[in-house]
Amino acid sequence: MTFHTRTFVSISLASLAAVGVATLLIERALRTYLEDDIRNTLLTQARLTAAMLAERPSVPNPDHEADALGRLLHARVTLIAADGRVVGDSEFDPAQIATLENHASREEIVQARETGEGTALHRQSRSTGVPTRYTAVAVRGSPVAFARVALPLTVVDERLSHLRRMALVGLGAGLAAALALTWVASLLLNRRLRAVAVTAGRYKAGDFTRPARDHGRDEIGIVANVLDDTVRELGQKLSDMARERAHMDAILTGMAEGVVLVNGAGRLVLTNPALRTMLRLPANVEGRQYQEVVRHPDIAAQLSTALAGRAPDAADVDLDQDGRRVFVARVVPVAHERGGGAVLVLHDVTDQRRADQVRRDFVANVSHELRTPLTAIRGYVEALSDDPPPIDDARRFLEIIARHTLRMERLVRDLLRLARLDAGQETLERMECGVSAIVTAVEHEMQSVLEGRRQRIETTPAPDAAVVPGDPAKLHDVLRNLIENASNYSPEGSVIEVSAARSGAWFAISVSDRGPGIPEQDLPRIFERFYRVDRSRTRDPGGTGLGLSIVRHLVELHGGRVRATNRVGGGAQFTIELPAEIQPAE
Ligand code: ADP
Repeated sequence: MTFHTRTFVSISLASLAAVGVATLLIERALRTYLEDDIRNTLLTQARLTAAMLAERPSVPNPDHEADALGRLLHARVTLIAADGRVVGDSEFDPAQIATLENHASREEIVQARETGEGTALHRQSRSTGVPTRYTAVAVRGSPVAFARVALPLTVVDERLSHLRRMALVGLGAGLAAALALTWVASLLLNRRLRAVAVTAGRYKAGDFTRPARDHGRDEIGIVANVLDDTVRELGQKLSDMARERAHMDAILTGMAEGVVLVNGAGRLVLTNPALRTMLRLPANVEGRQYQEVVRHPDIAAQLSTALAGRAPDAADVDLDQDGRRVFVARVVPVAHERGGGAVLVLHDVTDQRRADQVRRDFVANVSHELRTPLTAIRGYVEALSDDPPPIDDARRFLEIIARHTLRMERLVRDLLRLARLDAGQETLERMECGVSAIVTAVEHEMQSVLEGRRQRIETTPAPDAAVVPGDPAKLHDVLRNLIENASNYSPEGSVIEVSAARSGAWFAISVSDRGPGIPEQDLPRIFERFYRVDRSRTRDPGGTGLGLSIVRHLVELHGGRVRATNRVGGGAQFTIELPAEIQPAE
């Protein structure tokens, strides 16, 4: 049953009851009034009749008188002698009157005889057979002793039923009007409530966009408007919260650090993808106890400390069994007023630690590399200054000092170059470079060394690789470094081969020698700074240990790569690969 029907039915029933009760009360009041009126009228008429007949010594034709009075009064008029005999009656002719009963014992006559006036209610008339009201009044000084006026009570009922008919018509009309008004009123009310319900439905569905219509200024309007404002405010807050949540999700998803939030009861509220990867957790762990899910004792311990309200220091935690990666966990308790709990952040500091280690090693290496020539220089300077040696020794000492100074100079030059490459300060100027031309230039620069060692360079570029794209100065440095190494580590009178070939999207330039090659276990590391294969196996070429790492930097600057291998027949082979398509350097 809709609200509309309910209001309509209830208001209709109320109107029906109101109109019904009103009709009933009015009918009652009217009946009493009418009966009183009839009684008074009858009494008055009887008194008048008695007064008219009073003090008349003779009434020659009493029935005639009764007829005349009856016509005038619109009532039955009966004249009765003192002995109760009916002497005149407006409804009977003289012949009938003679047959009428004696009225001496009638109730109203008995009363009238005793008190002067008498009334009988609702008695069935023995003469007419109709329920009749009688009023008799004693007549003084006349052969007619009593004047009686009677009115059949059907008149009362007739008037009342007429009244009832009128009331029913009124009731019907009133009811129809009430129903129509109720219908319209409930329809209007319903329409407004429906508008409120529609708006509420929209809000329930989470749609806060369209403006709500004005609900009016009465009570319904006030309630609807207040609800509307409240819901819209709530909706605004909800969408703000959703936006913030989305921002937070984006931040947490994009974070390299792992984040976990545990509530005061120790249940996981939030984890980000990084944390799930670090701790190898499934995606839907929210809501579960952290002890069930987090299998790493260090992290569980940190969380339980924070849940107890303490903020432990950041600590290294071991997540892998093999300990390859290093993590630092920081945990902070959430204040009690904010519901308690703890937030734990896991940082993967492996790269940072590795970089720290590399830096420390580098500083140690540099110090070590500098100390050797410095110690030598200081020793020979002291030898020269303390006790001047013979001139030949002095010359030798000075040569040694010069050699070590040169070595330091080269070291500092290489260090500066590496620093520039690390800082991305060297840029490429790419163009077509002829491989043979570069090698010839290097050969020219190394002429005296090569001649001294009776070494020869053989350059055999393939026809499609005679020219490669690159920065000529940097490719020159690369090849010079590799050819110098080849010369340093290969025996006297040997040949150093330089070849070039194209393979798909790459150019490959190789420098091969006939030297001892490089032990397999050292191959992956020889491009590291200061990494040297055991020195004792060859003559000390006076290298800085930085040459190959500069080579790698320069090749990578071209978007290429470098690798070292051992040749099958002995000797080392260094191959640099350059992309045929010029790619932007990273
Ligand atoms: P260095 O300046 O000492 O030569 P590099 O970085 O150029 O330093 O080389 C690193 C190490 O690699 C060298 O110490 C040497 O042991 C080894 N190496 C380089 N080139 C060759 C080669 N052609 N044959 C054998 N060993 C080599």
